[in-house]
Amino acid sequence: MSRSVLVTGGNRGIGLAIARAFAAQGDKVAVTHRGSGAPEGLFGVKCDVTVADEVDAAFTEVEAAHGPVEVVVANAGITDDTLLLRMSDEQFTRVLDANLTGAFRVAKRASRGMLRKRYGRIVFISSVVGLMGGAGQVNYAASKAGLVGVARSIARELGSRNITANVVAPGFVATDMTDALPDDRKQQILAQVPAGRYGTTEEIAAAVTFLASDAAAYITGAVLPVDGGIGMGH
Ligand code: NDP
Repeated sequence: MSRSVLVTGGNRGIGLAIARAFAAQGDKVAVTHRGSGAPEGLFGVKCDVTVADEVDAAFTEVEAAHGPVEVVVANAGITDDTLLLRMSDEQFTRVLDANLTGAFRVAKRASRGMLRKRYGRIVFISSVVGLMGGAGQVNYAASKAGLVGVARSIARELGSRNITANVVAPGFVATDMTDALPDDRKQQILAQVPAGRYGTTEEIAAAVTFLASDAAAYITGAVLPVDGGIGMGH
């Protein structure tokens, strides 16, 4: 089985590992990027998920190359951390627009082809922070918690059409995003992880490919933590 897979933000970090994992199992994989181009061996489409027309154009391009998107991973995301009192409206809405509304735009556009095909796998990349909260991350946590509501509503709407919608909630994974944290914050986080280490991008990818597999056909509306135990199942 070689499916048409699209991973947003699949040009680097967790998204790239997800894209590579699908490619390794023989799927036709496309990734979005915002100008960096696609990594070697992957089909790239330029797309900023905050712009609905770009999302639409990216899907049209992928459909022409690989056929209708059967598996979509809404992975693109940003942080813009600061304490509540200092957080501007712009900082709040910018993060929501990229992480939550962006994922909505992507899932909505994907559902069109999936409904026609009566098959689809939608996976949202949330975060343990969405479920536990994070000091200085009101915007980010809200966006990541919102994905759970989005996924569960889609699961209800489209479940009978053989379309699943699930959430993967990673803990702390070494990427550019977490590299940006101050060293003392990194040590603080590590001390709270039962596994005693950061996760790898491959460990997140394994959960995503599982949720998109036939073996997971009866799993929908689920939140799967991949966090070394820091969230204790939440
Ligand atoms: P990175 O910062 O390494 O990569 C972020 C990716 O998202 C890049 O590909 C970036 O594209 C893309 N992106 C950001 N904004 C947009 C946008 N508006 N439109 C399209 N693409 C966009 O992050 P990670 O790989 O660490 O994170 C991937 C996902 O996993 C995120 O949703 C993040 O919140 C989540 N996550 C990460 C954790 C971690 O510990 N790293 C923990 C929990 C969740 P570009 O290259 O163009 O900037």
